[in-house]
Amino acid sequence: MGKSSKDKRDIYYRRAKEQGWRARSAFKLLQLHDEFQILHGLKRVVDLCAAPGSWSQVLSRELYQKQNQPDAKIVAVDLQPMTPIDGVTCIQADITHPKTLHKILDIFGGEPADFVCSDGAPDVTGLHDLDEYIQAQLILSALQLTTCILKPGGTFVAKIFRGRDIDLLYSQLSYLFEKVICAKPRSSRGTSLEAFIVCIGYTPRPGWNPKLELNKSTEEFFEGANIGKATNLQFLDLPDPEERKIAKFVACGDLNDVDSDATYSLDNESRLPALDPVQMPTAPPYKKALEMKRRGDLVRR
Ligand code: SAM
Repeated sequence: MGKSSKDKRDIYYRRAKEQGWRARSAFKLLQLHDEFQILHGLKRVVDLCAAPGSWSQVLSRELYQKQNQPDAKIVAVDLQPMTPIDGVTCIQADITHPKTLHKILDIFGGEPADFVCSDGAPDVTGLHDLDEYIQAQLILSALQLTTCILKPGGTFVAKIFRGRDIDLLYSQLSYLFEKVICAKPRSSRGTSLEAFIVCIGYTPRPGWNPKLELNKSTEEFFEGANIGKATNLQFLDLPDPEERKIAKFVACGDLNDVDSDATYSLDNESRLPALDPVQMPTAPPYKKALEMKRRGDLVRR
């Protein structure tokens, strides 16, 4: 989070800085927890696509400070490096690579996770269809890894975008979890298609032994679970299109709280001090350009 007038206008952005969260996304996980109580009694937790780390901060505070569970283990994974967080093992890795799963399992001593969350977002290209496709693949990759590591009865939470084919994802998820809910926290902008699937009660498909392998498509991966032909609804053994699963939609967080889309003029705005970012970016994409500028190598042509 930068230091700009934005922290006077976007209330969640400002609050995140005031409360020491590295990103405003912290409030999304907190509001999901308020609604569904998903963080109680967890022992092994995986935070996928975790940088800069506000969800890991929430997990760390909840498990170690509030619930006093010193034995809990939290693993955070991201392509980007992360500044350390108390009790969190950070791995710089790609969640789509099978090695990442093994690294996490090593940290858990081979034991399964109780909870996996993913707030993943790929870099946008601006090509809408491509962006939507990559985002959908990232969610499926998170789900693949989850099916390999989550214990039966465990919980999976992931960011989704409610695009054209989202009911297909709900159908697939409802094959794997007892309850699938689509939740929109108050802190997630109403104008954005962003929402979160809260999948409770992992129920592995009987006889299916999910295995992550390089060069295996997500479709092939889920074939063994009988939900593989993901792009073609006719292959789902749903008897009637009318029976396609539609996830329950829940708005969560205090609905009387501030609106994340609105621009507020805060009292004494002019006197509010600008706050420093909670955590400076560790490897921002503009880092190289800044270094070149400092050396005088950046020449305008
Ligand atoms: N939940 C985080 C927090 O609270 O600070 C914010 C996550 S941010 C919106 C999305 C993250 O997804 C980025 O840091 C990006 O590097 C990560 N990401 C995207 N693709 C990834 C991949 N294949 N493997 C690991 N991380 C990935």
